[in-house]
Amino acid sequence: MRTRFRPSSLVPAGFIIDHLDVGIDRIGLVVRSGSATATCPDCRTSSCRIQSRYQRRAADLPLGGRRVELQVMVRRFWCDAAACGRKIFAERFSDEVLPTFARRTSRLEQIVHHLGLALGGRPGAGLAQRLMLPVSRDTLLRVIRRRATTHSYSLSVIGIDDFAWRRNHRYGTLVCDLERRRIVALLPDREQATAQTWLKMNGSIRIRADLCDVDLTRRAAHRRRMEPIG
Ligand SMILES: [Zn+2]
Repeated sequence: MRTRFRPSSLVPAGFIIDHLDVGIDRIGLVVRSGSATATCPDCRTSSCRIQSRYQRRAADLPLGGRRVELQVMVRRFWCDAAACGRKIFAERFSDEVLPTFARRTSRLEQIVHHLGLALGGRPGAGLAQRLMLPVSRDTLLRVIRRRATTHSYSLSVIGIDDFAWRRNHRYGTLVCDLERRRIVALLPDREQATAQTWLKMNGSIRIRADLCDVDLTRRAAHRRRMEPIG
């Protein structure tokens, strides 16, 4: 069965393309939300009364060998709830699509994150340029650090592996929560003492595994050796 091609399938879910500008190495897409209403972030009341619009830029996955830049037309709405202190609010998009203040779509950020984990800062940034992903070495490292921070639950089973900040120059230690399949810490070096200090600060950990390969894309972590703590 043949399915009809829809231009909106090129952009993240929920967006509609209003205009397309194809250059030699760049595609500019003017997009807007397909929803007629938005929800006030304070009182959760839905509104369809538009107050104004502004433009927000975000990079997206490359297309046909060209980098993609979204110009998102964001609407400001009136909040009509009498008890709400906020009169005007800007529409927000899902964190799975485009988090508030993000300069990259979530699907691009996910690729950038995995590239940084697999190759480290400088080689990752080099490959990103070839793949038309607009990220610098510093951005790659920032994305990795941001995604490795803050967990509000107690850790129980973790995996530890080396990680290259700069391949052949500087290595760190990557700590992965094996139960939830996510990275929870990046330690600045691969010294035993640093890892031990971190383990002491996280006393809830029962089992530690040394990993030979952490692949969160396929949700697989191959264990080389597992040992109980304490
Ligand atoms: Zn409100």
